[in-house]
Amino acid sequence: MKQHGQTTEEPISYRSSKLSRNEEGTSATLPFIESVEAVSRFIPLGQPIKDAIHKVSQIYPFRITQFYVSLIDKANPSCGIGRQSIPSFEEFDETGENDPLNEGAHMITPALIQKYPGRAVFMVNAECAMYCRFCNRRRMVGRGWNPGQFREETLTYLENDTTIGEVIISGGDPFMLPPEELAYILSRLRGMGKKILRISSRMPVVYPEGLTEDHYKAIDDNSPLWIVFHINHPKEISPEFIEVVKRLRQAGAMLVSQTVLLRNVNDCPHILSLLFEGLVVQGVKPYYLFQLDEAKGVSHFKVRLKTGIEIMRSLRKTISGLAMPQYALDIPGGSGKVPVDYQYIQGKEHDRILIESPLAGFGTYMDNGMESRCMKCGVCKSHNPINT
Ligand code: SF4
Repeated sequence: MKQHGQTTEEPISYRSSKLSRNEEGTSATLPFIESVEAVSRFIPLGQPIKDAIHKVSQIYPFRITQFYVSLIDKANPSCGIGRQSIPSFEEFDETGENDPLNEGAHMITPALIQKYPGRAVFMVNAECAMYCRFCNRRRMVGRGWNPGQFREETLTYLENDTTIGEVIISGGDPFMLPPEELAYILSRLRGMGKKILRISSRMPVVYPEGLTEDHYKAIDDNSPLWIVFHINHPKEISPEFIEVVKRLRQAGAMLVSQTVLLRNVNDCPHILSLLFEGLVVQGVKPYYLFQLDEAKGVSHFKVRLKTGIEIMRSLRKTISGLAMPQYALDIPGGSGKVPVDYQYIQGKEHDRILIESPLAGFGTYMDNGMESRCMKCGVCKSHNPINT
C-alpha cells in the first residue's frame, strides 16, 4: 500500500483495532494515538513522515484519535483530514508567534481571558482529543499544564464580576473533562446568573464516542446553552458526528459551527459549500469562517485573504443564506475580531449607492433616508446588553 510515496505494511482498521497502551507506547488510554508506532498501525506511512511525526512531536503536542484516523483517505497523500492531524516538517517554519492573539495580556486569572466587555473565555482544561496541526493555542494545550487548578479562583472572580454576562467555556476541549466536572462548572455559572453560556468543542468531530450520557445530562440540566463545533471539512460530518448533533439538540443545546480556512484542506468553494450546507442540513448554523491565526509553525496552512474573500463571494452566489458564515479575522496582537467579507458596495454618487449583485451585474440603492435621532425613550439609561 502506498502513502506519501512510500511502501509500508498493511494497516489495521479503526474498528478492528486491538491496540493497547502498553503494546504501542501511547501515554494515554485508548482511543488516543500519540506515537509514530501507534499511528503506523492505522495508516501506511513512509519514513519521511515517520521522521516528521517523531521530530515535530518533540516540540508540539501530537495526538489523534482512532476515529479521526478512520476518516483519512489512505490513498490520497493530500487528504485534508490527514493534513489537519499528521505532523509535517513544515511545522519547523518559525514564522508566527507563540501567542498570536496576545491572550496572555488579557488574562484576568490564569484561566480567564477577557478582551471584550460583558464576556470572557474560561479555559476549563488544556487537553484535546486531537491536537490540530494549526492550533493557535499550541503553546499551552497538550503540555501538561492544568488550568483546573485555577478553577475555583476563576469561578469566584466570575461570581463577583456581574458585568460579565456571557461565558465562553473553552480550553483545550471542555468535553474532555469528566462529565461531573463539566456539570459542576455549568451549574456554578448558571447559579451565579450568567445568562449566555457557550461551549467551544471539536470533540464531537474528532472523538464523538467520547461524549457520554452524563455529558448530555450536564447539557440538558443547564440548557439552553450554545455549543460551537470546530469543524473544517465535509468529511468531518460523519454519521457519528450527526448522532452527537442529534443528542445535543435533544438535550436543548443551540448548535453553531466555526471553521478555520486552511490551505490545501478547505480553501475551495466546493469543499466549503459541501461543509456549510451539510451542517445546515443537520441543523447546525455555520457561524464563523476564520482566517488562520499566525501561530508558530502553522504558516503552511495560511490562505491569502483575497482567496478567502473570493471564496465567500462565490458561496454567496450558490449556497443558502442560512449556510453563510461570517468570514472574520482576529487582528494579530489581540485587538479583536473583524469581518473581512467581500464588499458589495462598489461606489457612491451623492445618495446613489452602486451595489454589485451576487447574481449578475449591479443594482443601485438610494441612500436618502432621513437622519436617525435619539427618541429620548430612556432605554439606554438602564440597558446593559446582557445583564438586564
Ligand atoms: S481542538 Fe482546538 S484547542 Fe484543541 S488542538 Fe484543535 S484547535 Fe487547538
